[in-house]
Amino acid sequence: MSEESTGTNGRHDEKDAPGAAPRLWRVTVDSQSCVGSGMCRSIAGKWFAADGREAGAGETLGPPDGALLDAAEICPGQALTVVEEASGRLIAPDTDPPS
Ligand code: SF4
Repeated sequence: MSEESTGTNGRHDEKDAPGAAPRLWRVTVDSQSCVGSGMCRSIAGKWFAADGREAGAGETLGPPDGALLDAAEICPGQALTVVEEASGRLIAPDTDPPS
């Protein structure tokens, strides 16, 4: 059985099985799309640093984090992208249509 963490948006992210290599997520900020709201820093502060008005580099690589999912989903500029480091798989924002 795996442990899970959940962002406030209800999405689950499974944690690594014991003994497995740790999964890492990478977040990028599209500075052209960032509108400087600061919401990402409020929600997932360890991942982002202030860089003037825009979100700058905080920790760009780290273990799965539900708060980071929330930040990517709520970003008003749609400037955040979260991918699984090893595979490049898109984690957020969620591109699936609502069911
Ligand atoms: S939430 Fe999005 S638009 Fe707002 S500062 Fe962060 S990256 Fe920029």
